[in-house]
Amino acid sequence: MFGSSKRTKVMGVQFVLAIVHAATLCVFGQSRSALGANRIHCVTDISHEFTFYFDGRFGRNYVGENGINVQNWGTLSKYDFANANLLILQSSSSPCQYTPADISAVRQFIYEGGGVLVLGDYTTFRNEKQYRLNALAKQFKAEFINQKANKPLKGSSFLSDKKIDSYSPKTIKLTRRSGWQVLIADAQSHPVLARRRIGKGMIIVASRALCGHRPDASDPINADWWKPLLVELSAGKPVDPKHRPKNQSPENEMQRDRLPIQYSDYMKPYADAIYGVYDKCFPVIEKVMGVPPSKGMLTKLILLPTGGGGFSSGSAIGLAAWWGDFPEKKYGMVELISHESTHSWVHPFTEPMWNEGIATYVGILVGMEMGLEKDAAATLEGWIKGAKRYDPEMTKYDLAGGKDVPHSVRMAKPMWIFEQLRKEKPDIVARYFQTKRRLATRDSIKKYTAHDSVAVLSIAMGKDLFDWFQSLGITVDRDKAQIKMPTLAANR
Ligand SMILES: [Zn+2]
Repeated sequence: MFGSSKRTKVMGVQFVLAIVHAATLCVFGQSRSALGANRIHCVTDISHEFTFYFDGRFGRNYVGENGINVQNWGTLSKYDFANANLLILQSSSSPCQYTPADISAVRQFIYEGGGVLVLGDYTTFRNEKQYRLNALAKQFKAEFINQKANKPLKGSSFLSDKKIDSYSPKTIKLTRRSGWQVLIADAQSHPVLARRRIGKGMIIVASRALCGHRPDASDPINADWWKPLLVELSAGKPVDPKHRPKNQSPENEMQRDRLPIQYSDYMKPYADAIYGVYDKCFPVIEKVMGVPPSKGMLTKLILLPTGGGGFSSGSAIGLAAWWGDFPEKKYGMVELISHESTHSWVHPFTEPMWNEGIATYVGILVGMEMGLEKDAAATLEGWIKGAKRYDPEMTKYDLAGGKDVPHSVRMAKPMWIFEQLRKEKPDIVARYFQTKRRLATRDSIKKYTAHDSVAVLSIAMGKDLFDWFQSLGITVDRDKAQIKMPTLAANR
């Protein structure tokens, strides 16, 4: 992930196996469960807003053993719902529209027996005046509103004896006499979760705050009642349990000069601008890094509908389309592209001490080269200031093996180290990666360690840096490095 923790994954691949209960099929003959109606085939929409949580964590927590969860990254109206019986819709402050085509696809899915869960949390994108998810909710006579729900929340009907947990819920406005049944309300009886039958299917609108949100899925709040509720919601449509529902990738892939760029229809307006920044950044990243990208890396760009960061799977990089107030502001996108590209550049060995720190540092250096010195300098200063709050002398935290290193120190101590070296050799980052590319190969070593990285940096500097690193509290040992240095003078 950009600027906080590592986010490296291969898009849309989930190794969840469909378990076919043959015994159930025999015993129940023609019953609904024999047709597979009790298995959930859930598709979670992350095409209107990408979050790591809805990219699989939601499904793990709330679909779980009751079925399979896949993701829709592409344009919603193009998803093939044939073998799905549950759709999760969610988005927060995203500018992506729920188009008339999306709405009619959702409507048809419900009429055919599908279950739809709409998780909303009223908020608007920048200076927009509307919460996009409402364009869909209103079609079904519901509206997410900007009104806090007052706790305690209370369940009714079959939720009356359940404990209702939540983060910061807001309430939902329902059109009277449109058939909504409120299942959870706040202390003043404002709806927080309601359901409505439509055709053979059902829709539930609910506050997003009734579900977990941690990217590691460690907060499965309300799973005890969400799980059976989702089974019921999906029960109106039989699915074939022998066949998995499908992930849908962003469906547009345009070949550009440097590499293809992949995006959904919603992301189309950003594609040219983001590719344009990438195109300008690429030669500058190459100059800062001193080497071209590693072979087979950086073969595709994927546009993510989020302001929240990106990922690198080595070959593909995902970019948050409205990161750092893009397209109004440019620096953030330059830094993001450089950051995620650096992850692809450092292969085949990720950096043991500064994989994230150096990625952002390269972004800062690229920003400086591209005439965005003010933003770049302010960013660097901010990081180093943040780290010095924990460690004013930069001697306390061990990047090589230390536990509990504060995030800002893990990110910025490497920047500070390279800044010291850059005073003497302004192109030290390039020299470092050139030396690494030459000496750290799959043939020469199995694993690239912190010891190797200081050996490489020493060779690049023309100075033995081990004593200096040790004086900075970093436990590296020149005898443990597999990459051997010639005899070099010590630093300072
Ligand atoms: Zn990163």
